[in-house]
Amino acid sequence: MSKRPWGYQPRSERPDPNWTLDPQTQAVRAGLARSGFGETSEALYLTSGFTYSNAEEAEEAFIDETDHFVYGRFGNPTVAMFEQRLAALEGAEFCVATGSGMSAMFASVACLVKAGDRVVASASMFSSCHVVLTEILPKWGVTVELVKGNDPSAWAKALSTPTKAVFLETPSNPMLDIVDIKMVSDLAHKVGATVIVDNVMASPVYQKPLQLGADVVMYSATKHIDGQGRVLAGAVLGSFAYMQEHFLPFFRHTGPTISAFNAWILLKSLETMQMRVEKMNASAQEIAEFLETRKEVKSVRYPGLKSHPDYALTQKQTGGAGGTNICIELNGNKKDAFAFVNRLVLIDISNNHGDSKTLITHPASTTHKRLSPEVQAEMGITPSVLRLSVGLEASVDLIKDLTQAFKS
Ligand SMILES: *Cc1c(COP(=O)(O)O)cnc(C)c1O
Repeated sequence: MSKRPWGYQPRSERPDPNWTLDPQTQAVRAGLARSGFGETSEALYLTSGFTYSNAEEAEEAFIDETDHFVYGRFGNPTVAMFEQRLAALEGAEFCVATGSGMSAMFASVACLVKAGDRVVASASMFSSCHVVLTEILPKWGVTVELVKGNDPSAWAKALSTPTKAVFLETPSNPMLDIVDIKMVSDLAHKVGATVIVDNVMASPVYQKPLQLGADVVMYSATKHIDGQGRVLAGAVLGSFAYMQEHFLPFFRHTGPTISAFNAWILLKSLETMQMRVEKMNASAQEIAEFLETRKEVKSVRYPGLKSHPDYALTQKQTGGAGGTNICIELNGNKKDAFAFVNRLVLIDISNNHGDSKTLITHPASTTHKRLSPEVQAEMGITPSVLRLSVGLEASVDLIKDLTQAFKS
């Protein structure tokens, strides 16, 4: 558990420490720190600052900040409740919430590196992460090498020289490539690298990178953690040592802080996350199987399908859960892909994902437009690729909508 005892009250220490709570119970209970009013729901503390009864107490508070909040940029009671709850779910020693997934990603890597250092990353990833690694960090003298995520020999080669950090995304957005977290972590640790996993696509429900050997996990909480299209947020989780030595000194002074209001929304979201993600996964599996039967579809990439090249690894790494996104390559060109999307009546056109509403996007012209055609091609993003994020509607209605869009 996180070593931030702020606001902890005797009641929250029950049940006894030897009682291992089920994740669903932790999603409702972990981190709960009630005020003196005994409110049922977590309190929302909208305050930027904190007061002290005397100057000595203020001085004391600045020494280690363990029993007194000092400033909203560093911490807030509502934010701390969210951090402790997510840490409990992830099995991490420490969690820091951030204002967005990208601020989490950037800070998690940037806090480790200096000019001359080397970073190795999987080539297939969310486009903003790609920009951070291939454009921003190199500007500051950091060398970044990208490797094909599902090629063990490429990882072995890249991780045969000293490396400061490894960044990987699995499944990748949008092509759903799978990286073997354990294999990469073992190789990375031999050359002293810290392994950071973007666990957004799998969600905290189905993939536990820290248990597989990774050192740090980052989330865009905008996706499944909120999962209801309301707030932008992120989180970084890892060991107490990584946080104290690297992450917190960077975070505190660069300010990617989450708002207390958004953290409060996320606290409530976590209570239902497992149920939402399980339902969305089950529907996605059903829809992926349906799509594979359609002649209009050239290929379906979904880690829960036997046709996925890393189906076996998925069984091992996520217990077989394929996730809530499906990557569809249609027969035809960009015009055909656009026409199909435009015929959908229920499914919304939107580039977000992990949402309760089912959303579809054309990555080549939206989320991954920022990348060059060559990089897009390398990732497998062709003009007829669509990414479908399956939501909470009844799958029967989603299949009906897809069917009518095919038929028209
Ligand atoms: C959305 C996303 C991010 C960025 O998160 P924001 O909350 O939009 O900043 C990073 N990685 C992946 C895989 C994502 O899908």
